[in-house]
Amino acid sequence: MTVLITGATAGIGAACARRFALHGARLVLVGRRAHRLDTLAHELGKLVPIHTLELDIRNRSAVQQELAELPAEFATLDVLVNNAGIALGLEPAQRSDLDDWVATVETNIMGLLYCTHAILPGMVARNKGHIINLGSVAGSYPYPGGHVYCGTKAFVHQFSLAMRADLLGTKVHVTSIEPGKVQSELAQVRFKGNAARAAAVYADTEPMTPDDIADVIHWCVTRPAHANINSIELMPVDQAFNPLAVHRARI
Ligand code: NAP
Repeated sequence: MTVLITGATAGIGAACARRFALHGARLVLVGRRAHRLDTLAHELGKLVPIHTLELDIRNRSAVQQELAELPAEFATLDVLVNNAGIALGLEPAQRSDLDDWVATVETNIMGLLYCTHAILPGMVARNKGHIINLGSVAGSYPYPGGHVYCGTKAFVHQFSLAMRADLLGTKVHVTSIEPGKVQSELAQVRFKGNAARAAAVYADTEPMTPDDIADVIHWCVTRPAHANINSIELMPVDQAFNPLAVHRARI
């Protein structure tokens, strides 16, 4: 099995790389931080063949070129894990930085589309493959300050289901994985290096681990070929739903 994972340099992507390597998959690992890719390649290269791509998935032409020019031993991809993603800021929409909105859409939607568009036709031609898209509970349940992040993850959910509609009649699988709180670098990125705010996200609670999600992703791609897992939503037992908010004021 050959697996390409975007955002392999941290969190869920790195956990997926380790889990798939333990199960003998050859790996294409994508991310922007070259030193992290090198470290991971050194660690996992003892187990399986590894190809690293220092790549910003927002760069449409670079994604197209790099994925079209994969070395022959890595070019036949069985699994694409569209994992790279960001959340930026937690200000209300009316006070958000437009650059944060653009970067979030370019990464979580456009980057995912560039990778999918480059890899999907080969899977269809071979009549074999599995695309795993990282959505989020944020795609189903909005929260204050979530605005564009929530919107991008709703896109991921619906795009995943709609792709399956197009793929009917092929053996290509698509799954949307929709986690709640996972301890990773996502909060550090969201709060732009403010360690205290990032740590507060996980304080006094037990979030899921990146490996919990990697476990579910590996399970999805190892189901019998006649089954497609459309979507999976999972949360820590320490997380649940708020009631709808009501504004009260004297009138
Ligand atoms: P993370 O620890 O911050 O990892 C994000 C990864 O994405 C990093 O490897 C980062 O690598 C990569 N990345 C970001 N922008 C990129 C770009 N433009 N090009 C290439 N790679 C890029 O976050 P995580 O929690 O593992 O998140 C992984 C996915 O799970 C995301 O899609 C996220 O929305 C989703 N998710 C996370 C949670 C959670 O609570 N953590 C919950 C639900 C869903 P470089 O910086 O090296 O490029």
